[in-house]
Amino acid sequence: MIEVRGARKFFGPLEVLKGIDFSVARGQIVAVIGPSGSGKSTLLRSINHLETLDGGEVWLDGVQVNQKLDRRSFERHINGVRQQMGMVFQHFNLFPHLSVAENITIAPIKLKGMAKAEARALALKMLDKVGLADKIDAFPARLSGGQKQRVAIARALAMQPKVMLFDEATSALDPELVDEVNLVMKQLASEHMTMVIVTHEMRFAAEVADRVIFMADGAVVEEGSPAELFRNPKQERTRSFLKKFL
Ligand code: ATP
Ligand code: MG
Repeated sequence: MIEVRGARKFFGPLEVLKGIDFSVARGQIVAVIGPSGSGKSTLLRSINHLETLDGGEVWLDGVQVNQKLDRRSFERHINGVRQQMGMVFQHFNLFPHLSVAENITIAPIKLKGMAKAEARALALKMLDKVGLADKIDAFPARLSGGQKQRVAIARALAMQPKVMLFDEATSALDPELVDEVNLVMKQLASEHMTMVIVTHEMRFAAEVADRVIFMADGAVVEEGSPAELFRNPKQERTRSFLKKFL
């Protein structure tokens, strides 16, 4: 479903992705872990072209995401690609001046031409999935962090994406709000949503992921099943990273 080949990225003189190969099969849940600054967010953002790679390729379902096109064609192409990928960030990025319903329906209405009533019904369905149907007409300022993040997930799901990308979706939350968001992610996992989850929560990664990828210094150091990677890491770099979480 997702194929990243030889991804390279520089920020000025700093090489933050040093030729990453990475793939995610349909229905697979891949957790990406690694120290701060190792390039996890940059990799995730490169998948939907929020960052432009300096080398390498990204493919989604047999279509190259970072293909060369003239500007106008590329814009159309990338908008199409982004509609197929839901992304949830550390900070919820809800529109503060829009209600929960409006936050969720704006993309289906504007990008997919969905009728308002249909979009609202869809919003209600997605809110129900994340346990927030009663908040449909609330404004973000009235929601807790965990609720905001669940709305952000509902908003992404409303575009009916092929894959969901999560970048530390819970790391800005108070500890007591983390579980409610993790629970939603686990539920998506049980529904076989394809997901890439960047996280600092090793326990959650171990519970939810089919495969775990450990990154350090812009490279994939090691990958494997949660059992392999967490219980029997092969690389010293992985072992020393995991020790900090014991
Ligand atoms: P964290 O766990 O702290 O979120 P990360 O693994 O997600 O870290 P990235 O955010 O991908 O790491 O950053 C990788 C490197 O690239 C870091 O050294 C960071 O400072 C640098 N970097 C990221 N974004 C930019 C940018 N827009 N301009 C310059 N440098 C950047
Ligand atoms: Mg990051």
